[in-house]
Amino acid sequence: MSVPSEVTEVVFKRLPPPKESIQPDTTKANPTFEVKTNKLDSLKDGQILIKSLIFSNDPTQRTWLRKPGDNRRAYIAPVYEGETMEALGIGEVIDSKSDKFKQGDVVNARIKWADYSIINESSVFNKIDNTQGLPLEYYLSVLGMTSLTAFFGLIEAGQLKKYLNKRDSDLIIAVSAASGAVGSIVVQIAKHLLGAKKVIGLAGSDAKCKWVEEIGADLCVNYKSENYQKKIDEFLDNDWVDVYFDNVGGEILSYFLSKMKEFGRIAACGSIAGYNNPDKALVSNWFNVVSSTLTIEGFLVMQYKDKIPEATKILSDAIKSGKIQTEKAYHVEELKGNDEREKFTEIPKIWNLLFDGDKPNGKLLIKVK
Ligand code: NAP
Repeated sequence: MSVPSEVTEVVFKRLPPPKESIQPDTTKANPTFEVKTNKLDSLKDGQILIKSLIFSNDPTQRTWLRKPGDNRRAYIAPVYEGETMEALGIGEVIDSKSDKFKQGDVVNARIKWADYSIINESSVFNKIDNTQGLPLEYYLSVLGMTSLTAFFGLIEAGQLKKYLNKRDSDLIIAVSAASGAVGSIVVQIAKHLLGAKKVIGLAGSDAKCKWVEEIGADLCVNYKSENYQKKIDEFLDNDWVDVYFDNVGGEILSYFLSKMKEFGRIAACGSIAGYNNPDKALVSNWFNVVSSTLTIEGFLVMQYKDKIPEATKILSDAIKSGKIQTEKAYHVEELKGNDEREKFTEIPKIWNLLFDGDKPNGKLLIKVK
């Protein structure tokens, strides 16, 4: 394939005011992003040119957005106003000035919201060895970062390794954002790999809850309904939760602090309730951490990178044996439009589905080409 001379990219224009959601529509007032066409730079040593194939949509991208000069600690490189927005994704190497990657390699990397990205070789997570002929989408969903997050959150932060491959255990495990990419895998690992007695999920609609129960939860409640806490109380029936896998923070975390078993563990994975407005992730009921002698362990998937091969083997075996289902594990949106610019205006709108309640079940992906 010949090297293109131009690139169409979605640039992060301006942060929304504090405590407000982003404006994903570039045609509306005060858009957060704008689409631009620019000349493609030439490659420097150690860089590769990637053609975007699939973008991952992740809530954490919201936490990357910053004003220039904002030097607060970041767990991963931020994206500043005026820079091209970035995402995890899969792309094909079109040109290379790296000894590690050659034309035709397909890689999992942090790339740009653009048709082509120039990235340093260090931004590549791994080369995809697709000798098994699996759909590329698997490497951003059931075998990707979000699945590993579910696994390490339960096994490492939740310290549940000793339950792996138990058919029946007394475990009670709860998870928020249970219809999402991470949460839906947490449900399946908890039920089908750890044999949990009670798996409780929370999701934002009755339809989402129905699916969460189909894949393994014993109870899923719609956290937007008024009586959701009462339903969980009744289901627990004087039992207490061993591990709560927290994806959201705020009200739901506060509730579970009061439902934990003595010495229970909370795997603190994310706090999406507060990504647009930090006030919504605030926590009450803190004294339960003391009175129930709880451990709350924050974790990042990449802190376990040495254990990824072992975890991937366990997840692949679980997929092969049907313990983790792949059929509805991801949803792919294709970019529609007459040209690249029109197509790329869709990207922020699709990503924003993560925050506005309309996200389809499982992992949300964008097919670029
Ligand atoms: P996702 O679940 O596929 O999408 C986000 C989901 O969050 C939506 O489906 C939505 O579901 C739910 N949500 C949105 N706003 C909410 C709110 N105010 N209260 C409760 N739920 C809300 O995303 P994901 O990739 O699996 O990420 C889930 C969490 O894991 C995020 O907090 C993310 O930052 C975190 N994460 C952490 C790591 C790590 O290494 N620690 C790695 C990956 C992801 P509903 O319709 O049910 O509301």
